[in-house]
Amino acid sequence: MRTYKIKCFKKTTLYRILGALVVVAFCAIVLIISKHNDYPENSPTPTQSPTPAPFACVILDAGHGGFDRGASGIETGIGEGELNLIVTKLVKAELEANNIEVILTRSDENALAGTKKEDMAIRKSIIQNENCDAVVSIHMNKFKDRSIKGPMVFYMKGCEDTGGILANYVIKALCEAIDHPLRRSNPGDYLIVRESYAPAVIIECGFLSNPEDERNLSDPEYQKKLAKGIARGIMDYLLDVKMQELRQD
Ligand SMILES: [Zn+2]
Repeated sequence: MRTYKIKCFKKTTLYRILGALVVVAFCAIVLIISKHNDYPENSPTPTQSPTPAPFACVILDAGHGGFDRGASGIETGIGEGELNLIVTKLVKAELEANNIEVILTRSDENALAGTKKEDMAIRKSIIQNENCDAVVSIHMNKFKDRSIKGPMVFYMKGCEDTGGILANYVIKALCEAIDHPLRRSNPGDYLIVRESYAPAVIIECGFLSNPEDERNLSDPEYQKKLAKGIARGIMDYLLDVKMQELRQD
């Protein structure tokens, strides 16, 4: 009898333990499934928020291309047109990641036409026909004195209150990004900045005639820093302008 009671007690305990294990296993499975599928088939899917409209629009012009190589590196002979496109695409990615629409004048290694004159005419028509907030042309510099180095930013002379402001933001952010002493922006008279209706700048990222600059400008990590600095400057300018527009409304 005692033996039976003991056996009976043991069986009851065993069933309880087994029951508890089944409950724990069931809960674990439910937990795993819910982690893998936040929205089970039968649940209503959450409303997807619409993609916000672009905050602003910027035209990026990678200088030269194709038959027009631009300046050449003093040591490796690397072509300016090739480097301009690399930096331009990196700037594009930075701006687009910040909800800014980007239009490129050229998106591959080719020129826009068979002659320099036609090529520049097409660039001019793109920057005049697209209604954008800013135009940024990206280049690499050269000079007969090989010791000259560092970035420069040009705006159309007489446009201190428009292109000049954009140029100041860009040179500041660019110098900070590559840890270069702050430089002033420079007035100039070049087709891209002269013909643009929107505030426009030409960025000379560095001198291919200087060996140190050439090494830096060919280095992917340095190119990323350059692009981040240029994008930062453009965005600082756009924020400034948009804030002023809001204050005037
Ligand atoms: Zn150039």
